[in-house]
Parts: sequence; structure tokens; C-alpha cells
Amino acid sequence: MTTLPSTPLRSRALALLAKFYGYRSFRPGQFEIIEAVCAGRDAVVLMPTGGGKSICFQLPALLAESGVAIVVSPLIALMQDQTQALIANGIPAAAIHSHQSEEENRRILDAAFAGKIRLLYTSPERLNLELDRWARLRISLFAIDEAHCISQWGHDFRPDYTALGQIKERFPGTPVIALTATADRLTRDDIASQLNLRNPYCHLGSFDRPNITLRTFANAKKKQRMDYIAHLSRKYPQDSGIAYCISRKGAEDTHAALQAMGIPSVCYHAGMPAADRARSLRAFLDGAVRVCCATVAFGMGIDKSNIRWVVHNNLPPNIESYYQEIGRAGRDGLPAEAVLFHSLGDVITLEKFADDSGRRAINLEKLNRMRAFAETRVCRRRVLLSYFSEERTCDCGNCDNCIAPPERIDGTVLAQKAVSGVLRTGSRIGVFTLVGILRGQMRSDIRREGWDSLKTFGCGADLSQDEWNDYLRQMIQLGVFEMAYDDGNRLRVTDYGMRIVRGTDSLTLSAYVAPTTARGSRGKKAEPESYVPVDPTTQLFEQLKTVRTDIARTEGMPPYLVFSDATLMDMATRKPSTIDEMLAVNGVSEKKAVRFGRRFLGAIRKFMGLSAGTPQGTSLRETLILFNAGDTPAVIASTRNLKLNTILGHLAKLIDEDIITTYSRIITRQQYDDITTTLASGAPDAFETLGQRYESCLISIAQAVTRAIARKKASRT
Ligand code: ADP
Ligand code: ZN
Repeated sequence: MTTLPSTPLRSRALALLAKFYGYRSFRPGQFEIIEAVCAGRDAVVLMPTGGGKSICFQLPALLAESGVAIVVSPLIALMQDQTQALIANGIPAAAIHSHQSEEENRRILDAAFAGKIRLLYTSPERLNLELDRWARLRISLFAIDEAHCISQWGHDFRPDYTALGQIKERFPGTPVIALTATADRLTRDDIASQLNLRNPYCHLGSFDRPNITLRTFANAKKKQRMDYIAHLSRKYPQDSGIAYCISRKGAEDTHAALQAMGIPSVCYHAGMPAADRARSLRAFLDGAVRVCCATVAFGMGIDKSNIRWVVHNNLPPNIESYYQEIGRAGRDGLPAEAVLFHSLGDVITLEKFADDSGRRAINLEKLNRMRAFAETRVCRRRVLLSYFSEERTCDCGNCDNCIAPPERIDGTVLAQKAVSGVLRTGSRIGVFTLVGILRGQMRSDIRREGWDSLKTFGCGADLSQDEWNDYLRQMIQLGVFEMAYDDGNRLRVTDYGMRIVRGTDSLTLSAYVAPTTARGSRGKKAEPESYVPVDPTTQLFEQLKTVRTDIARTEGMPPYLVFSDATLMDMATRKPSTIDEMLAVNGVSEKKAVRFGRRFLGAIRKFMGLSAGTPQGTSLRETLILFNAGDTPAVIASTRNLKLNTILGHLAKLIDEDIITTYSRIITRQQYDDITTTLASGAPDAFETLGQRYESCLISIAQAVTRAIARKKASRT
């Protein structure tokens, strides 16, 4: 990179962030990760979907003096998406994979060897095959995306990932950064050990996505589910949504039901012919169809920012999948909704999947936790976050249980009894034994250990077995205890639990409700309010989206790669009227400002009642931005779709104004000497002779340079 190595890393990183991404600051944790990787350290990064993981390895790749970063990614669609996004921002990136001809792959590899590619995406299989050949590349770092796939403890284990452990052995001095959006504590530790990372820097980002409203409904009929999807589709007429189903047939049925209701949708599942699937994906990404009925085969890495809602027609098999799937909604930070329909039938199907999975015990336990989430009467977000070991001691206010709360009780004393019950046994028991002790049951297992003489023995005899089970489940969900899956499901008291037992913190629980009355009671309430955009910013936002759709169509790229909704929202708020103001919008990189800026400026100026044309000097300014970004005149001309001569004309003007003071990228010494001596010869046909050899404006450039040199001399004397 052109930045001087002596400048501090932070300002160099910020400069690249502004230039290539159009962002002015890092999100919490991003810079620390970049700093660690740039210092050669391995890293494990946990950030929720949409948290901004990509920048954590892309910037170190750009900050490295030279070399290529190898990015391992499980899906080809994901690689294509990311390389397209990078190229749109002017970063040289490419992917090597099996859906591309070997000739194309070879061409890309040659470019990588020539140092022309900064980020190279590939699959784990391919990397394992090619590691020997690629060892001769200058590799700046390895990034392992969706790193939870390497762990048997994770919910999405992929055998191909296991061989990635050899990277660290083959390249001990090259930093490896592992990134994932979903992993409980066990999986997290396992990722680092499977990859043989050494003392990695760990970033544990918050999993909270407060803008997503969480709701669940038990045992809803098919008609109710379809009505709800139709309702969401109408509530957000500009935006998209996903309806997830457990089976291919479920996805097709949902698709058919929606079509019958007059709601256009596409279907997406692994059983469809590849071409149909690709067509569905395109239609959805381009915004031509706003609803996608899909199995979980759909969506990994889909960075579409205007997904407003995700409906689960069935219970997902574990909280990691659920979390990842709802995380596709509201990536722009604007309000979004996640609705989960679940039934006993789902549980039976999923239990069978677990039986057949070869990892029965782990998968059943994960299913149990998912089910508990669906059925809980406490704040759902707290349940989610405590699953990922994130402490949260107040309710979220944005889930069905918070919006229309069930009856609450002070559970502090109950929790104190339970925590001290666990502590007094030396933290060696699970829920079943604890309930026995609290209720004072004279069972042989309890007597054998002498636990019938504990102070807590029988201190909870006033509650039934069911009540204790329910309250203990809530306590686990609220983070009073953690369940040790790797250690016989024993209960471990958390810091929060310790504060409760010491009396420095408290706990609110939902009052126990016997199952018959609890069931189905959720089905009726909380009809969401309707959605009407009114204020001018929102109006402009909608118009900018139309501009984006047009650009996407003419450029043949998905709209979200033009600009994200968050960027359009910022644009609608700031209402830039010049190219420089446009550059101040969050998410507008230099490349995109020049490529797309005018069309948006036109719409904004019209909206503001200004003359529709762009202000004088815009074109000059655009050329300068690209020139400063390091582009040659020829590249600027092709980016801007203008004649080379026009660009040279701009540059001549900029030289005359002393805005550009280095000329070597515009005119070579030889050209300059040739032009100036020919002109100085005074020959009557000098211009004509030169005109045959050079663009006419290159002659103007030579003259402008001569004037600039004269000015410099004059100012020195
Ligand atoms: P993840 O891979 O974690 O799901 P991405 O890396 O795709 O997330 O980032 C999600 C969105 O957030 C992208 O649109 C990205 O450009 C944006 N983003 C990332 N970092 C920043 C930042 N520092 N400031 C503003 N937006 C950011
Ligand atoms: Zn809540």
C-alpha cells in the first residue's frame, strides 16, 4: 500500500476504511482484532451475523505491505458475493473454486503469484488439495470463515474443515484468523484447538440484535401460519422476508399456499435443479420477488440488508441455527421481526434426525435448549444471550414475553436456595438431583452422598417437582446457572448466580402455569400494528431505493452491492448535494462515489427542489478522487465511461490549479521531453505531428506541467 509504514497503524487503517468502504469509524472490537492480526497473532472472532467480521480480515490483508490473504469459505455463492463486493469497492479480489473453469482458476492463480490479488477466496477442499502449490505464494494471512464448521461440538460440523488444522503446522509464522457468528462456549474453545492456534487473540462480540422483535407461537394451524406470512409481506411492502421450513415439501407447500393467496414468492431447497435454485436466489437478491420459502440450505452469508422478517414454520434443531437464520433479518439495524411457529410434531421429527445423526446426545441436548427457548415465559432475548454465555440481567422489552408479560414473581429466594444447593454438593449435580435435594426426597443416591444432611435439604419442599423443574429451567435460561454438556450436564453457578446468593443481585421469574392452560394461549394476542412510512427522510429513502434498483439492473449486480439500506438511510438523512458531501455518507467508498454518486445526487437534488444537474466541478472532482486513489488516466476513463482525452483535459486543469503536483502517473518523462522539444522547435506543423502520436490533451498536459514548473521556479526566487 502507498501509505508510509511509519504512520501509526490506527490512522493507516482508518484511511483505508474510509477509502475502500466509506466508513469513518470502526465498530467496537474491529480495530483491536486488526491490530492483533497485523502483529502476526492468531485470532478467534465471534460476532453475530451482520456484526462486521469481513473487515477484520480484509483490512489486515490491505495493510500488509504485499502478499495475498487466503480466505476459506464453505459456499461458492458466498465467495462470489464477497469478491464482487470487494471489487466494487476497488479491492483486487478473486475466488478459486470448482464452479469455474480450470483455465479461469489458473489465470487467477497466476495473478495471485504476480502479486495482483490481495484477497483470494477458496473452499476448504480446494485449499487442502492445493496447499503445496500455494506454499510459494506470499501469504499475508489465512482467514477461516464459518469456523464453527470445524468443531464436532458445533451444529454444522463439516469433515472438510478438519484438515485445516494443518495450516498452522505448514505456515507457523502466518496469522490465522477464525471467524464465526454462532458458537457456544465449548465450540469456541474447540475451534482454537482444532486449528492449532497459538495463544489466539479472542474477540467475543455481543450477540444481541436488539432491533429484531422475537415472537413464538405454539401449535398454530397451517392457515394461521400462512396468514401471518401474508400479513408480514403486506406490512413491509418494499422489503423482503424468508419463510424457513423443516423439509423440502414444507417449503414447496408454503410457496404454493402463498401463490394461491396472491403473494409472489420463490422456493429454494437443495432438492431443486441447480439452475432453478440459482434463478430463485437471483430473483430474491435482486428484489424482483420479496418472499423466499426455503429450507436451511438457503441463506448462509446472504448479506441482503433489507430482509425485514424471518418466519420459522417449524422448530429449528438448535439455537445456533435459529439465531443465525433470524440474524438475516434487519442487518441494516432497522426494526425487523422474527416469528417462530413450533409444534410437538416438529420435536418428534427433530428427535428422529438427532437419532440418525451419529451425534445423538449432543444433538438431543441442543434440541432441548431450542425447545425450551420456544416454550419459555421469560424474556426470550435473555434466553438466547445466556445460551451464548453473555450476561444480561434485564429484560429486553422487544419480545412477546416482554411486550405482553405473563405473571411475574420475585424469584430471588428460590434462586438462593437452588444456588446454595448446588454449591453445598461441591457443584457435582444436575437438575434432577438438585430438585430431589430441595424437595427433601429420601432417595438412595442422595443418602449415599450424605446430602440429606445438608442445610438446603428439603428447603424447597413447598413446591412440586414440576414447579422446581420449570423454575430451574428459567434460572438456566436467565444465566443463574450454566449447563456443562461436556461434564454430565452438571449445573455450574455463574457470576450472576453468585451475586444472587450473596444478596447483591435479584431475579424475577414468570409464575408457574400448569401446561394445559399455558398451551396455545400465545396464539391469539399481539396483532402487530400497521406500517406507514410518512416523514420526508423515509420518502427520500424510498426514492433512493428506486435509483438503486435501476443502477443494479443496468450494472447487472444485486442492489445491496450497490449500496446497503443503511447507507441509503444515511444518504436520505444527510441529503448530500455535492460529490464531497456524498463521500461523507457512511458506506460510500471513493470508487462507488464516482461510479454511482451522480445518479443519487440527481435524485436528492430533485427531491430538495434544487436544479437537477450536478453542481459545476463535479466531474473534475470525480477524476481527482480516482486519481488520488491511485488509478491511471486510462483506468479512470473506463471507470467513468468517458474518453481518455476528457480525463486528460481534467488532469491538465488540475495541474494548472496546482492541485495535482506529481505527474509521473499521467505523462512519462520521455513523452514530456518529446512534446516540449517538438513544440519548442517552432515547426509550423508541430501540433499536427504530435497529434498523430498522442491524445490532444496529453499535449495540454505537457504545457500545463511546463507552466507549473515555471510557477515553482518563480515562487522560489
Ligand atoms: P458479517 O460477516 O459479520 O455477517 P459483514 O462483514 O458482512 O458482517 O458486515 C455487515 C455489514 O456491516 C456490511 O454491510 C458492512 O459493510 C457493514 N460494516 C462493517 N463494518 C462497519 C463499520 N466499521 N462501519 C459501518 N458499517 C460497517
Ligand atoms: Zn424480552
